[in-house]
Amino acid sequence: TELPADPETENRVRQVENACFSYVLPSKVSSPKLVHASKGLAKTLGLSEQDVASETFLNLMSGNSVYPNTKPYAMAYGGHQFGHWAGQLGDGRAINLFELVNNHQRWALQLKGAGKTPYSRQGDGLAVLRSSIREYLCSEAMHHLGIPTTRALSLVLTGDEVLRDMLYNGHPEYEKGAVVCRVAPTFIRFGSFEIFAARQDLKTLTQLTNYTITHFFPQLGAPSKATYTQFFSEVSRRTLNMVIHWQRVGFVHGVMNTDNMSVLGLTIDYGPYGWLEGFDFGWTPNTTDAENKRYRYGNQPNVALWNLYQLANALYLLIEDAKPLEAILNQFKTDFDNQSLAMMRSKLGLYENNREDKVLIQDLETNLLLVETDMTIFFRKLSEFKKNHPEQGVSIVSEAFYEGTISEAVVKTWENWFKRYAKRLQEEALSDADRAEKMNRVNPKYVLRNYMAQLAIDDADKGDYKLLDELFSMLQNPYSNQPEYEKWFAKRPEWARHKVGCSM
Ligand code: AMP
Ligand code: MG
Ligand code: MG
Repeated sequence: TELPADPETENRVRQVENACFSYVLPSKVSSPKLVHASKGLAKTLGLSEQDVASETFLNLMSGNSVYPNTKPYAMAYGGHQFGHWAGQLGDGRAINLFELVNNHQRWALQLKGAGKTPYSRQGDGLAVLRSSIREYLCSEAMHHLGIPTTRALSLVLTGDEVLRDMLYNGHPEYEKGAVVCRVAPTFIRFGSFEIFAARQDLKTLTQLTNYTITHFFPQLGAPSKATYTQFFSEVSRRTLNMVIHWQRVGFVHGVMNTDNMSVLGLTIDYGPYGWLEGFDFGWTPNTTDAENKRYRYGNQPNVALWNLYQLANALYLLIEDAKPLEAILNQFKTDFDNQSLAMMRSKLGLYENNREDKVLIQDLETNLLLVETDMTIFFRKLSEFKKNHPEQGVSIVSEAFYEGTISEAVVKTWENWFKRYAKRLQEEALSDADRAEKMNRVNPKYVLRNYMAQLAIDDADKGDYKLLDELFSMLQNPYSNQPEYEKWFAKRPEWARHKVGCSM
C-alpha cells in the first residue's frame, strides 16, 4: 500500500494505491523565460499585469519555486487507450500547484512539463516548446470559440534541452523545453474513477466521487446512490455538449482516451489535435491512429459515448443498478441526434422547424465531399448567400474549393442544392443580413489551422514570438471580421498539406 509520497524525497515511478494523488515538487529549470501569458485568463484569476510581469510569477510558472504553504501534487488515474484498458497512467508530466478562488470560482493551476512524478512511467516528465505552443494557443482559442476547455495561463521556456523522437523527422532530436500552466476548476477525468474500479478499491472510489460531487456538482446535493446517478447524467450531458461544439467548428481531438475525458466536459489534453481543412468525416490528425482512425472527426460522438460506458462501468460499483445508467447512455444517443441537427441547422441559418432539414443537411455533407472543400471557409462564406439569388451560391463558396477547376457535374450538383437551400430560406422570417449575422456567430472565421501553429512554432524556435502573439490575438475574436488578419482567412497552402504537428 503506497500513500502520497513525500515531495522532498520521492518522485519514484511506481503503482500508487489507495490514493487519488501524490505530493510531488516540480523540478527546477536552468533559465526560465516567460514567452507569453494570457492576459484574459490572468484577469479571470484575479492577477494584475504587475503580478504576471513579476519574478515571482516566472518562478512559480517555471516550477522553480512553490507558493508558500502549498503542497503540489500529481493525480492518479487510469484509462482506456485506443479501446484497451491501460492500467495506471496518472499525471506523468503534470503537477498541480494549488487552487485559488476568485469571484466565487475555484481554479486549479497545473504545470505541464515540470518534471517526473510517480506516474511518469517511461517518460521524462517534460514538454517541448512545439507541443506547448500547440496546447497554449489552441486551448485559449477554444475558449474564445465558446467551447468548454481547460485554459492556459502561461508559456515558459525552461532553458533546458529535451530529447524527442521527432515523428516527422524520423530521428531523435533535442528541442527546447517549455512549461505551460494549465487552468481548470478541476482536472479530474473519467480515468480517475476507472482506476479505483479496476482495483475494486471501493473506499477510494467513493471518496473521490463524493469529493467530486461536493466540490464541482454541489447542486446535486449530498452524495448518495441517487446523486451518483445524477452525477453521471450531468457528465454525460456536458460531454455531449462539448462534442457537439467540436463537430460544429471541425475540431478533431485526436486522442479521446478515457484519461483525456474531463468530468466537467472540458476539452483537455491538446496533443495531436487538428482542425478540419477539407471537410472529411474520416480525417484524423493523429498519425499513430492512421490505420484504425478510431478518433476520426466523424467518430468523435461515438467515442464520447463509448467513453461514457467506461465511466458508467466504474460508477456502477457504487450505484449497483445498471438500469438508470443505461437510460442515461440511451438518452445520449437521442440527445445527440437532436442536438447535432440543431447545431447543423444553426450553421445553415435555419431557425423555423422543417422536417426535411435533415435531408437537406445530409445532402450538404455529401456535397462537401465531392471535391476537397474547406469547412471553415465554406460555412463562413455561406452567410453571404441571398435567398433570392440561388444562382450565386457556387461563386459565393468557391473560395472554399481546394481544386482550381471544378467539373461541370459537381457544379450542377451544388447548383441543385443551392436551389433547395434558397427555397427553404423562404420559410425563414429573418432578412439575409440578419441571418448572416446570426450564422457568423456559430461559423468561426478564424481557427488555428495546423500549419499556422507550425509557422508560429518555427519562428518561436528561432526566438521570434511575433507570430505566436499575432495568432493569439486573432484567436480571441474568432467570429469577428478582423481586416488586419484577413490573410489568415484562407485555405491551407499547398506546402502544408501533409504537415501535421505531433503530440509529445
Ligand atoms: P496522453 O497521450 O498525452 O494523454 O498521455 C498519456 C499518459 O502518458 C499520461 O499519463 C501522461 O501523463 C503520460 N505522459 C505523456 N508524455 C509524458 C512524458 N513526457 N513524461 C511522462 N509521462 C508522460
Ligand atoms: Mg493525457
Ligand atoms: Mg498529452
